[in-house]
Amino acid sequence: MNPRIEIHTDKLTHNAKQISKMTQGYGITPAAVTKGFCAIPQVAAAIVEGGIGILADSRIENLKKLRTLNARTMLLRLPMISQAETVVKYANISLNSEIKTLKALNEAANIQGRTHQVILMIDLGDLREGIMDDFELMAMIRQIKSLKNISLVGLGTNLTCFGAVIPDEKNLGRLIDLAQKIEKDMGQSLEFISGGNSSSVYLMMEKRMPKGITNLRIGESILMGTESAYGKKIPDMHYDAFQLVAEIVEIREKPTVPIGQIGMDAFGGKPIFEDKGMRKRAIVAVGKQDFATHPVKCIEPGVDILGSSSDHMILDITDAEKKYFIGSELKFTLSYGAMLALTTSPYISTQLVSGGLG
Ligand SMILES: *Cc1c(COP(=O)(O)O)cnc(C)c1O
Repeated sequence: MNPRIEIHTDKLTHNAKQISKMTQGYGITPAAVTKGFCAIPQVAAAIVEGGIGILADSRIENLKKLRTLNARTMLLRLPMISQAETVVKYANISLNSEIKTLKALNEAANIQGRTHQVILMIDLGDLREGIMDDFELMAMIRQIKSLKNISLVGLGTNLTCFGAVIPDEKNLGRLIDLAQKIEKDMGQSLEFISGGNSSSVYLMMEKRMPKGITNLRIGESILMGTESAYGKKIPDMHYDAFQLVAEIVEIREKPTVPIGQIGMDAFGGKPIFEDKGMRKRAIVAVGKQDFATHPVKCIEPGVDILGSSSDHMILDITDAEKKYFIGSELKFTLSYGAMLALTTSPYISTQLVSGGLG
């Protein structure tokens, strides 16, 4: 069924292996973040096969889908207090910053006869979630001690999300210092000192990862092969594990400049056109309803994307190396945002591809 997203599971297994190897050198246990592909279980399984034993997601519905896999589950978004029961049921670990929520999780865990593991989030300046004040942190830890079904397993932070703050020795150093202080206070060690997401990966590439970070929560780097502080490619990874396939519904020679008075396009923008004369164009049946305004890139040599409306993408195929016909399929690589939108769309079918890696 077209349009479809092809997911190359063997490429993801490879990427997971590479990330495992890289993190192992720093004493870091990675959690693989599955929210970029709506936690399709077979895709998550390919990542587990690459040697990653923790699966993390922002949404409890996604973690629920992963419960039969051989991996611990971690809830990334702060739990909604109204979902305390399901959080305890489907997440082994959750990231937290509110005592009221922790009390609700404790109660739910007590009823279910479980111990729920929590990581407290520290805001190191990115200004999304997390505790900023040391006194408040210490007071919260004292309160957690009295919650019998809650086990404090670590401290974590999230950076480069709201404020675009880049993780470095200084801010992560503060996280490590705080964790060590708490370990001394509690007289026991914390399993997780969780130093961020794919924006922390560059610190390993530059051999600057501060000693003491023991966990990273990594989505983009495994799925796209890139780090997200500077957007660089990580060497020896696959960058095209997710591909969009769309089908041609029209091919025609047309002028490059529209004919008539120019108003607004389908999304309220005012387009500008350069006159290149008559060009051969193709329309493929996919559009902004499917991938929103996130970038996709055509893999086919010599094909240029001219633009998209809700349901149509217009391509210039004048200089294409291949010959295309009505019904021909074209392939595109995706940005993280496009992958997220496409795997969420009910109009896009999913095809898992494995094998074919030499
Ligand atoms: C989404 C998310 C991640 C993973 O981010 P990537 O940039 O894809 O690695 C990690 N931690 C939290 C709290 C998240 O919400």
